Amino acid sequence: MKVAILKETGPGERRVAVTPDSVKQLKAAGVEILVEAGAGAGAYHSDAAYEAAGAVIESDTATLWKVADVVLKLQPPLAGGPGGKHEAECPREGAVFVSFLKPNAALDVVRTFAARRISSFSMDLVPRTTRAQRMDALSSMATADGYKAVLLAALTAPRFFPMLVTAAGTIAPARVLVIGAGVAGLQAIASARRIGAVVEGYDIRPAVKEEVESLGATFVGPKLSAEETQDAQGYAKALSEEARAKAQELLRARIPHADVIITTARVPGLKAPRLISAEDVSKMKPGSVIVDLAADQGGNCELTEMGRDVVAHGVTILGPVQLAATVPVHASQMYSRNITALFLLMVKNGALNLDFNDDIIRDTCVTHDGQVMHAPTRERLEGGQPAAAGAAGSRP
Ligand code: NAD
Repeated sequence: MKVAILKETGPGERRVAVTPDSVKQLKAAGVEILVEAGAGAGAYHSDAAYEAAGAVIESDTATLWKVADVVLKLQPPLAGGPGGKHEAECPREGAVFVSFLKPNAALDVVRTFAARRISSFSMDLVPRTTRAQRMDALSSMATADGYKAVLLAALTAPRFFPMLVTAAGTIAPARVLVIGAGVAGLQAIASARRIGAVVEGYDIRPAVKEEVESLGATFVGPKLSAEETQDAQGYAKALSEEARAKAQELLRARIPHADVIITTARVPGLKAPRLISAEDVSKMKPGSVIVDLAADQGGNCELTEMGRDVVAHGVTILGPVQLAATVPVHASQMYSRNITALFLLMVKNGALNLDFNDDIIRDTCVTHDGQVMHAPTRERLEGGQPAAAGAAGSRP
C-alpha cells in the first residue's frame, strides 16, 4: 500500500501532515511512504530526514497523486493541483483521502469524492471521546491557536503583561478577558497567566467554571443551566433570546475593564456568536487589543475583519486565520500524531482494513464506495442547501 504525503498549499501554510517520526511508525505497520520533495521544509523537516525514516522522495506532484493508494494531508483539497486541476479530482479512483475536510462547507468536494468513489475521512469529525483523544486534531490546532493568540496580543499591546516592581514604581499587570473556555480558550488562559496577566474566563457553559479556576483565572459567566447551554456532546448550543440577553449584559459589564480580549466562542455548524459590538469596543480603553479567534466564522466582534488588523476607537482588533500554521513545528508534530493514529486504525498487516463497526472509522468517514456517509452533509446535499456558513463550521 502506497501512502503519499503532499506539500501543503494555501496562504501562509507551513505545516506538514506527517513528520519523519510518524513515517517510522507507518513503515513499521508495513506501508510504503512517498513524500513530495520539500513537503516538510516549512516545519524544518528535510527530505533527508524523511529518507532516513524510510520514505521515498518524489518531486513530481502529479505522479504522487496517481500512484497513491492513500493520501494523508492537512488542508482540504484546494484549487491549483497539478495540471490546474482541483485537488478533489486528483486522487485515483477508489483511493483513500484523509485531511481536515470541513464537509458541510465543502459540498462540491464531497460530491466529487462520492462520484470518484474516494473513501474520504475528515479529521474534524473525530469524535470527542476518550478513545479518540489521540486523534483529536481539532484540539491540537486549538491549543496552538490559543497559545499564539496570547503572544500576538502581548506583542501588540502597548503595555507589560506581568506586574513589575521596579525602582520606578509598581506596574500593574495587564487584565486579560478570554471569551469562550473551550480548548483554545483554556490554552489562552493558561498562556496569559504564565506571562503574568490577571485573567478572567467567560463562557456560557457552567461546566467550564472549575477548569477556568484551576488555571488561576476568575470565571465569569451567566447563571444558566447545563441543559440551556450545551448539547449531549458538551458543545455550546445557540441560546434562547432571554438567555442570550442575560449573558450579554454580564459580558458587557466586563469588557471595559480588559486591556486585552481574546475571543474563541463558537457554536458548531453555525456562524460565531456576535459578542462584542462596535459600541462595546468604543467603551474599551484606547490601546486595548482584541484577538478574535473566531474570525474565520464571522468573528465574535462586530468590527473584526478576517485576516486583517483593524484599529477602531484606539483599540486594535486582530482577526487572524490559521494561527496554528505560524507554529509549524509543534502544530505539525501534533497533527502528525493525530492523523497517524487515525490511519493506523485503518491498517491491518500492511493492507487497508476499513472496519465500519468501529465508531471512529464510521464517524470520520465522509464518502465511501460512491456514497456520502456523513449524514449531516448528505442531508445538506439532498436538500439542495448551501454549504454551511463559515469555513470551519463543519462539525455535525
Ligand atoms: P468550540 O471551539 O466549539 O467552542 C469554544 C468555546 O466557545 C466553548 O467552550 C463554547 O462553550 C464557547 N461558546 C459558545 N458560544 C458562546 C457564547 N455565546 N458565549 C461564550 N462562550 C461561548 O469548543 P471546543 O474547544 O472544540 O470544545 C467544546 C467541548 O468539547 C468542550 O466541552 C470541551 O471540553 C470538549 N472536548 C472534549 C474532548 C474529549 O473528551 N476528548 C476533547 C476536546 C474538547
